[in-house]
Amino acid sequence: MIYHPRRSFLRRVLFAALLLCGTADADAQVFDLPTVVETLASDEHAGRLAGSGGERLATDFLAAQLQRVGARPAFEDRAWFQAVPLAEPLVGEGRNVAGVLAATNSRADAPIVLLSAHHDHLGDGRLVGSSARMGEVGRVHRGADDNASGVAVCLRTAERLAARPDRDFDVLVVFFTAEETDRQGARRFVQHPPVALDRIVLAINFDQVGRLGESLGFEVASPVPQSRLTDDIDAASELVGLPLEPSPGLIRRTDAGILQTAGVPVLALHTGTHQDTHRPTDTPDLIDYAGMERIAAFAASTTIHRLPADSH
Ligand SMILES: [Zn+2]
Repeated sequence: MIYHPRRSFLRRVLFAALLLCGTADADAQVFDLPTVVETLASDEHAGRLAGSGGERLATDFLAAQLQRVGARPAFEDRAWFQAVPLAEPLVGEGRNVAGVLAATNSRADAPIVLLSAHHDHLGDGRLVGSSARMGEVGRVHRGADDNASGVAVCLRTAERLAARPDRDFDVLVVFFTAEETDRQGARRFVQHPPVALDRIVLAINFDQVGRLGESLGFEVASPVPQSRLTDDIDAASELVGLPLEPSPGLIRRTDAGILQTAGVPVLALHTGTHQDTHRPTDTPDLIDYAGMERIAAFAASTTIHRLPADSH
């Protein structure tokens, strides 16, 4: 079933104006989406299993990307990383990575929009969660769609928001570890958050957004009445020309569910699982980069429309 946005002439005019701004922002892009996905999915990162050397290198790369977009480290003592002690069968510590783009007129109680995606994947698949078929066992699981794609769209959305003048809200970008093993990174984050969680007016979580077909899957949950948020999502969908399709259960299956449990309003996005999910065949050459650009435009538009008028 495709979800058709409601139409409003005034809203369309407003969003046409915002789209023009967005297009202008996109002219000078910090990130090349294929480069971000190919780097995360490279041999060097070896499938980014939480707690592994590959994860460490990948998270170093992500901190450098946050710096490039103008973020400052989000955790205590100006740290980019939050250590996440891992439960069996994993060993050692994983790392959440987070940065903040402060509002134009920075203030301590500014509303926060959180953009999140998990960066970890399955390593060579022998320890956790692989759907490898005969002949694939033990090969690097590159996780291009799951979830290098979500990380890249997060960065592009942050870039779009960073470029907006007079932004009245902070943007907190978080890359979670150990999503693939019971969402341990997100759990740690909400137990030890770097900001008061009640300042977060909207969290958008991206998990497998690299294979856009006819429509973008979504689910919304908010502790306050959702009508305005639903209207904003409709309007952004119409502006970008990106039809939406409800995905019941998406929040529960992703890091968005942990944020929701902590009382944060969430919008979860995905383009769906497929035959390559959790297999070594989830590779960068199968990613739809133009689709990812549209998803970032949609996410940024939703955010911009929602704030600051509806932030308190
Ligand atoms: Zn996965």
